[in-house]
Amino acid sequence: MPLPTARFMSLNGRVVPYEDCRIHAFSSVVKYGAAVFEGLRGYWNPARGDMYVFRLKEHLDRLRYGMRVMRFDPLPSEEMLADSVLSMIRANDLRETVHLRLIAFLDGDEELATTGPVGVVCGAIPRTRSKAVTDGIHVGVSSYTRIADNVLPARVKATANYVNNRAAELEAKRNGFDGVLMLTGLGKVSEGSGACFFMVRDGVLHTPSVTSDILESITRDTVIRLARDKLGLPVTERTIDRHEVYAAEEAFWCGSGYEVQPILSLDRLAIGTGTPGPVTRAVQKAYFDVAEGHVDDHPAWRTPVYGNAAP
Ligand code: PMP
Repeated sequence: MPLPTARFMSLNGRVVPYEDCRIHAFSSVVKYGAAVFEGLRGYWNPARGDMYVFRLKEHLDRLRYGMRVMRFDPLPSEEMLADSVLSMIRANDLRETVHLRLIAFLDGDEELATTGPVGVVCGAIPRTRSKAVTDGIHVGVSSYTRIADNVLPARVKATANYVNNRAAELEAKRNGFDGVLMLTGLGKVSEGSGACFFMVRDGVLHTPSVTSDILESITRDTVIRLARDKLGLPVTERTIDRHEVYAAEEAFWCGSGYEVQPILSLDRLAIGTGTPGPVTRAVQKAYFDVAEGHVDDHPAWRTPVYGNAAP
């Protein structure tokens, strides 16, 4: 049986074989869901013979911000976290596009108000481009409300938040949808279970504001910047109504793992022509060009793993 994750992982700064990457079953993360995590991608560029971790610094900054919000103490350094990612990839000698999971969790066997010790684990999952990116997906609105910022830290990638996302995702799958769009407590569009939402109306790109109980997504930021700077598209960050989405010309959602996926319908109502639209395709191209390193723009967004080529 092939392993679900690459052979070597990183645990508390040490590279260990997959089967030795263990913590105690009574650790605080198991008891209280006390963890924050990142999903990142390493893009293999065959022409340059190197892998680029996309926006590593921004992911590490968000993870450390999440740990501060969760009152983890002491925080692992940015250098230690970066090394957990890079040394693990090098130990596996990975030369294909991978999804990377980096988790900071409360170890030890403590009571509820514990703040440490903090453990760090990282692993890689080889993952090629999904059919959802090329063909698009059908999405339904969830009957579950997206967690509110005064309930759980919605803009932080806290593991416990995903009880909400998982319930919504399971419901959507039961109902035959590929994915789920969640609304805020006020009934406004929030986000998917693992991606941030965009729609095109009258040639303008609209996305829910960061006060719509969304995760402050790094891909959302990438898309906004590429749309404005590369594609010359106006972008607004604002409150979005559910029924506006039915009127949109195009829609897509994005995330480090999801990349950029065209949304073909919402609640079985076609969006625009019901096929991936030209703006979505242009955003996808701009995204992959920069993430995979086919263009020289934004070198700071690409961290080379093997050092064979300039970012
Ligand atoms: N929203 C949620 C709930 C997510 O889990 C993700 C994936 N991390 C995103 C949005 C997209 O965030 P990012 O672009 O930083 O991966």
